[in-house]
Amino acid sequence: MAVRTVRQLGDPVLREKCQEVLDVSAPEIRALVEDLQDTLAYWRKTTGYGRGMAAPQIGVLQRVVFLSLPGEEPWPLVNPKIIDRSAERMVVWDACLSFLSIFMQVERNREITVQYQDLQGKMQEARAGELRDLSELLQHEIDHLDGILCIDRITDLKTICSKEEFEKRYRATSPYATSASR
Ligand SMILES: [Zn+2]
Repeated sequence: MAVRTVRQLGDPVLREKCQEVLDVSAPEIRALVEDLQDTLAYWRKTTGYGRGMAAPQIGVLQRVVFLSLPGEEPWPLVNPKIIDRSAERMVVWDACLSFLSIFMQVERNREITVQYQDLQGKMQEARAGELRDLSELLQHEIDHLDGILCIDRITDLKTICSKEEFEKRYRATSPYATSASR
């Protein structure tokens, strides 16, 4: 278990496509999930941001995503795949621990269905919608596994804003509102 360095924008590893995990029960996968959990918890504590982290963000090119939603069990997803997307789309504020100094508006599908394996290797399915902003969070994290960053999905470059301005102007009505302790 360890807090790992979060790779920052410009590090080529963030642009790589991750490999499918073949053996979910491998000790390396267990260790990877623990590192993601520790690293995310550390960032959450020190910055107040972070509900999810993808393996490439700590330099591991495996298809693993880890979510930590307030008041819920830690949620690792292995080989997650979006198998259904609502036609309806939405524009939301987004940011990334790999470049936490800027915020931006991106376009996402309003609802998605994700298929993934749990740590026992069992196939699971989750439908994600606006509740807890889960849909946009999962789309953000799964994008990481294909080397796609939220800056690639900006709706309008003019929405890019600094962390300070974002907090002053928009945070309260965004998925990052502190009152909702996201
Ligand atoms: Zn990210």
